[in-house]
Amino acid sequence: MEPLCLAESVSRQYNFAAGPGVMPAEVLAQAQQEFLDWDGNGFSMLEIPFTGDAFKNTLCQAREELRGLLNIPDDYRILFMHGGASAQFSLVPLNLLGNSRLADYVETGYWSSKNMREARRYCEVNIAASSAHGGYDHMPDHWRLGRESAYCHITSNETANGVQFHPLPDITDIPLIVDMTSDFLSRPLDVSRYGLIYAGAQKNIGPAGLTIVIVRDDLLGRAHPATPSVFNYQVQAEANSMLNTPATFAVYLAGLVFRWIAAQGGVMAMEYNSIRRSSRVYRAVDESGDFYRCPVLPEYRSRMNVCFTLADDALTPRFLSDAAAQGLLHLKGHPMTGGIRASLYNAMPDAGVATLVDFMQHFAKAHRRHV
Ligand SMILES: *Cc1c(COP(=O)(O)O)cnc(C)c1O
Repeated sequence: MEPLCLAESVSRQYNFAAGPGVMPAEVLAQAQQEFLDWDGNGFSMLEIPFTGDAFKNTLCQAREELRGLLNIPDDYRILFMHGGASAQFSLVPLNLLGNSRLADYVETGYWSSKNMREARRYCEVNIAASSAHGGYDHMPDHWRLGRESAYCHITSNETANGVQFHPLPDITDIPLIVDMTSDFLSRPLDVSRYGLIYAGAQKNIGPAGLTIVIVRDDLLGRAHPATPSVFNYQVQAEANSMLNTPATFAVYLAGLVFRWIAAQGGVMAMEYNSIRRSSRVYRAVDESGDFYRCPVLPEYRSRMNVCFTLADDALTPRFLSDAAAQGLLHLKGHPMTGGIRASLYNAMPDAGVATLVDFMQHFAKAHRRHV
């Protein structure tokens, strides 16, 4: 059977969804080609037992590929977990509080706020910094860390609000924990500055259901006794992420995405692309003569999720339907914020951005009020 050529069949559709988001066309084509007979086994990857060498090798290769992409030091474990990024909202306090009853959180938008609500079920939350008073239009830089806090948690990129830390903050007193779900692998990273990094896969890695956790060795072994074993970092580290059945197909696909990123030039190339692509869209917003508005201060604007509004919000539904008619899909903003959101994950082609910018300019021209 001839494999469907993805590049041709969907070349004029661009997926700007915030998550699950766009995947590299080459990876999807390879997965399709291997779907019925993976690696000459005569079976699909979906049918390969996780206890056998074939899957173990797949998982090890994916892990080592990721280690190479981010130069992850040897004293960090890479875990493939279940439950999405939201499970980590509970698993971070459950695993890391130890004897402490306090943790620091930096409040920067929708996801960090949700995270804090969950953390309050396990500990007292000290808001070390917040940008809520500014409507989450920036990343705060004045922090007050709690003296007794077990860790400090931040969200590197707020997917719904379109704000991002550039660069990531540096603290040394207590472990810095980062929800990197929506900008993981979009730029180089000095992993040694963090205690733990986690990312749900469906934004920049692969299929939903898989969560990557990168944790420093010395933070293992502090879990609350009631922590489920499959959610205990130390237990999963000792079991090589195979305490129970991992998300096997998602791990396989993540491995293909890691290799794809390496082939593109690694995270440096991803960063370069994301700066180029996002600045084109922001420029279209800023040069629209107030037709489009971006509420986020320029130095904190996300390179992954470009959020903006139309000065005349009544035109938003028309913008979305006209865009969809041109193959520009899933541009609707997060329900909490409204407006437009263009998610520009690693796999977004330049042509998608060019088509979007072109559409924005034409739409503004056609609908600008002439006073
Ligand atoms: C999408 C997202 C989440 C939630 O991910 P799930 O896998 O659906 O739980 C958490 N944090 C951030 C920053 C996100 O973008």
